[in-house]
Amino acid sequence: MHTFLGLDFGGTKLLIGEVDSTGKILSHKRYTTGYVNQHSAIEIIKASLGDFLRTVGTGDRMPLAVGIGLIGRVDTRQGRWLQIDLDRSNPSDLAHEIYNTFGMPCYLANDVKSATIAEQCWGHGRNSDNFVYINIGTGIAAGTVSDGRLIAGSHFNAGEVGHTQVGVSAGVRCGCGRTDCVEAIASGIGFDYCARLLAPKYPDTALEIDTLVGRVDVRKVYALAQQGDRLCNVLVENAARGIANLIMNLVRMSDPDTVVLGGGIVSDPWMFAKIQSMLHAHTMRFVTNGVVITELNPAYAGLLGAAAVAMTQNAKILAEA
Ligand SMILES: [Zn+2]
Repeated sequence: MHTFLGLDFGGTKLLIGEVDSTGKILSHKRYTTGYVNQHSAIEIIKASLGDFLRTVGTGDRMPLAVGIGLIGRVDTRQGRWLQIDLDRSNPSDLAHEIYNTFGMPCYLANDVKSATIAEQCWGHGRNSDNFVYINIGTGIAAGTVSDGRLIAGSHFNAGEVGHTQVGVSAGVRCGCGRTDCVEAIASGIGFDYCARLLAPKYPDTALEIDTLVGRVDVRKVYALAQQGDRLCNVLVENAARGIANLIMNLVRMSDPDTVVLGGGIVSDPWMFAKIQSMLHAHTMRFVTNGVVITELNPAYAGLLGAAAVAMTQNAKILAEA
């Protein structure tokens, strides 16, 4: 059976593994990276891949290609990593660099687009030509598959749906310059923004914010909301309504038969049920396979996504040859 290497670059950590064409992970190794710009990230990616091949290896198998899932904007056609974000933009020919260094065909994709391709290969998207995958974790973004094709956009910037308003007014400024984007309300970052913004109105909250180091723990917010904490209830209600409206907006946009959700915010069954209860039957009537949580293991979703990119792009190149 053919195998592929997947490399999931998540910003502060990196996971490399060998995956077969059924989506089974044969081996993997984790690396930490710290804060990076594109230049340092590429050096870390090359060093880690070299280490993986030396220390873990692939036995007598020769993986057909390596796929890399990256944060930021990625030109999948030219194999160019365009930017991490506006402040970290230094386009580079990463796929060619990997090919020149390791002699292995290399394909790149953004992390959420990769996860969407993994759904298409091995997840809920297997039997659907029209589905939407929405990742609701630290940030919010989506991959839309329409008539079997993942929408990339004219600048590989499609799917940044976290920066849309969803009928929830918290008065929170988003990093993109707009106010009340769904990412600023319902992502991991959004819960943190809103908790800090709204806390002065709810002095009785048990959520510790003033002394908090790092971001608010969303699991703690869910637990306190279920105990009647008013601030946490507002945070949860706003986020659930925002996510439900986002889902319904995307359903109106591309008419999917399946909506797949991934990411830490929605993997909690109580939160997922709350979001489901806010979906309108009339709007959702053609989503015949329903709104479902990804069945791919969240700890390896990025790795599977990267391997799925290698597998599908490699098959496409062979078909075109
Ligand atoms: Zn925004």
